[in-house]
Amino acid sequence: MTQPPDADERRAVAPVVCYPPETLDPPDLEGYLKALSGYEKTGEVIAQPRDAASFKVPAGGVFRISSIEGPQVGDLNLWYAGDLNERFFSGKTRALHGTHMNLGDRLWSTLPYLRTMATVIEDTLGWYGFDAFGGGVHDVIGTRCDPYTGRLLSGGDYHYCCHSNLTRALADARGLSLAEAEVYVHDVLNVFMCTGFTRDTGQYFMKASPVRPGDHITFFAEIDLLGALSACPGGDCSTSHSSDEAACYPLLVEVFEGDVPPGWKPSKLNAYDRSHGR
Ligand SMILES: [Zn+2]
Repeated sequence: MTQPPDADERRAVAPVVCYPPETLDPPDLEGYLKALSGYEKTGEVIAQPRDAASFKVPAGGVFRISSIEGPQVGDLNLWYAGDLNERFFSGKTRALHGTHMNLGDRLWSTLPYLRTMATVIEDTLGWYGFDAFGGGVHDVIGTRCDPYTGRLLSGGDYHYCCHSNLTRALADARGLSLAEAEVYVHDVLNVFMCTGFTRDTGQYFMKASPVRPGDHITFFAEIDLLGALSACPGGDCSTSHSSDEAACYPLLVEVFEGDVPPGWKPSKLNAYDRSHGR
C-alpha cells in the first residue's frame, strides 16, 4: 500500500482525550463507603452457571457482585426500574471513562436520558490495571455472547449465551414474552472479564480472568434500578464461550440499603431540551 510522503508526520500527531474527566462531577467515594458501612443487606440472588438472575436496587441502595466458587465472568445489564427504555449505555460509558471500569467510574444510561445509573464504589481487582498484553478487567468494549453471532461463525445453536440468559431473566422479572424482553437486552459491563485489543491487529481478545472467590465489585445505585447478571458460559473466559465446554461457577449479587449519604440525591434526567435545532 502506498503511503503519502508525510505519513509518519501525520501518525506522530499527539492524541487528545475526547472527554476529559475533569468536566464530570467527581464521586464522593468516602461518603458512599461511609453510608454503606451503616447499610443492611436486604436481598441476594445467585446467577447460576450459564444462567442469569435479576435483582432490584432502589435509588440510594448498593449492589455487590462477588465471585464465590471459582473464577467466573459476569455480563451485567441495568435498566431504570421505571422505564426499560432507559438502559445502560456501554458506548458512552466507554467514551467517558475508558475501556475498562475503575473505582469511581459511573455507568451511564442511553440517550435521551444520559444520566448516571450507578457508581463503582469498591473493586477488589482494582490492582490489576493493564497487563503487558493491554488487557484490563471489567470492560465496556465487548457486547455479550449471543446465539446469533454463534450461528454466523459456527453454524450451530447454543441457547445459554449471556444474551439469551439475560433475555430469560428480564422476561421472568417483568412478565414479558421472550420476544418482548429481548429488545431491551443491551451491551453489557463485562464484570471480572479480562480483555483488550491485540496491539498488532486491534482484535478484541479475552484471557483468563484474574478473579478469585471473594473478589467483588460494588455499585451505588444513583436511580431505581432493575439489574440482570449472567454467569457467562465462558466461565473465566480463558478459552472458549458460547458452549458447554468451559468450567462455570455461580456469581452472587447482594443488595444493601440504609440511610443515604448526607446531601445525596438521585441523578436527574439529562437537561438537554431535545429541540435538535428546530
Ligand atoms: Zn457471555
